Amino acid sequence: MEHLTVTAAQQCVLGSIKLLGAESVGLEQSLGRVLAEDIRANRDQPPYDVSAMDGFALRSADVASAPAQLDIIEDIKAGDMPRKTVQAGQCVRIMTGAPVPQGADTVIRVEDTQMLSDTRVQINVPVKANNDIRPRGEGMRTGEVVLARGTELTPGAVGMLAMVKRASAEVYRQPRVAILSTGDELEGLHDPFDADKIPDANSYALMAQVQALGITPDLLGIARDEPSHLKEMLQRGLQYDVLLVSGGTSVGVHDYVRPTLEALGVQMKFWRVEMKPGHPMAFGVAPLTWVFGLPGNPVSSMVCFEEFVVPALRRMNGHTRIHRRTITARLTHDVKHKHSRAEFVRVMLSREEGGYAATSTGAQGSGILASMSKAEGLMVVPADCTGMKAGEPVTVQLLDGAEYQNEAGGEW
Ligand code: AMP
Ligand code: MG
Repeated sequence: MEHLTVTAAQQCVLGSIKLLGAESVGLEQSLGRVLAEDIRANRDQPPYDVSAMDGFALRSADVASAPAQLDIIEDIKAGDMPRKTVQAGQCVRIMTGAPVPQGADTVIRVEDTQMLSDTRVQINVPVKANNDIRPRGEGMRTGEVVLARGTELTPGAVGMLAMVKRASAEVYRQPRVAILSTGDELEGLHDPFDADKIPDANSYALMAQVQALGITPDLLGIARDEPSHLKEMLQRGLQYDVLLVSGGTSVGVHDYVRPTLEALGVQMKFWRVEMKPGHPMAFGVAPLTWVFGLPGNPVSSMVCFEEFVVPALRRMNGHTRIHRRTITARLTHDVKHKHSRAEFVRVMLSREEGGYAATSTGAQGSGILASMSKAEGLMVVPADCTGMKAGEPVTVQLLDGAEYQNEAGGEW
């Protein structure tokens, strides 16, 4: 099987991914999901011309040569319906959101007026027609599509669903994801401490990466490097939409994952990608399941998750924005690059005049998980790069948690 570039491998994965079916979800659980239907307005909003201010609704002709004095014939709060028609020399006291009565063609804010008595007001300045009136249907019109299929339900979109009285909506189903670790050397999180073992970090790092996408995975545990046990565990994983199996994809004599997957009918699409970390990455497709064979080294497994699993999971549940946001940052130190694989350097980001500065999180060995635990982004060193110098602009893919920063970023 040929070794692919990261981009070619990503295209291979995405080329085989299908959108999952739709399901109905209540508004309370809808955040972050993607609409599988168009949502239409069921009313005009606002339902009539309403005041945008606390003030007085009046006839603009009456105040053309303000100051002018008017009789107050009614008080209208939001929720009231006006009963009277405003005639020449009259006005109504009106609150924000209340309907503008018949006869009135404009609103003046209370700050530009002066009460003379309970029933008489002086308007201090002239005001043109249609001032501070929010016209009927300004926000939405009955029948109009207010949220199109494919829209991600952000807080604003959830507000919009409530505005059109949709207590539930059709969204794309979430993938069911299984996570399996492999290796005789692994010690489970709840196993007794044994200094000779390697703690199973991957199950939990991957779990958290999946959770950060709004999906709850199942942990299948640890499979031993023994074909029949591995087969049984992988078979369980093949009941899911997505199986993430880490370790055992390399060239060691006990790396049984790929042959065992093939024996179970998984069609392997690629193995080995021109990247660092993450070279032994494998991907295959079964009738029900997309299978990601992630490298065993914790950093490699997490980086491969970022590059291949993130876009795949997001495509499955309907997102169109499937890749991590990239930013340009200024590199604060030199970076050597002598091989021909794309490299993903774990970096911290800091704000600086005009943008961001990127600094390596330190030793970048693929087993050094601290490089990942401190990281806010993955800096991409392209395969053909011959090294980078301090001060150069670089591309950084943002990781979960990188959307927040210490300072406000300015004064407003
Ligand atoms: P492998 O790809 O199985 O040869 O594993 C490569 C390296 O990653 C070895 O040093 C393993 O001990 C380590 N490793 C594999 N799986 C895990 C895991 N679940 N958690 C932590 N380290 C692991
Ligand atoms: Mg192993």
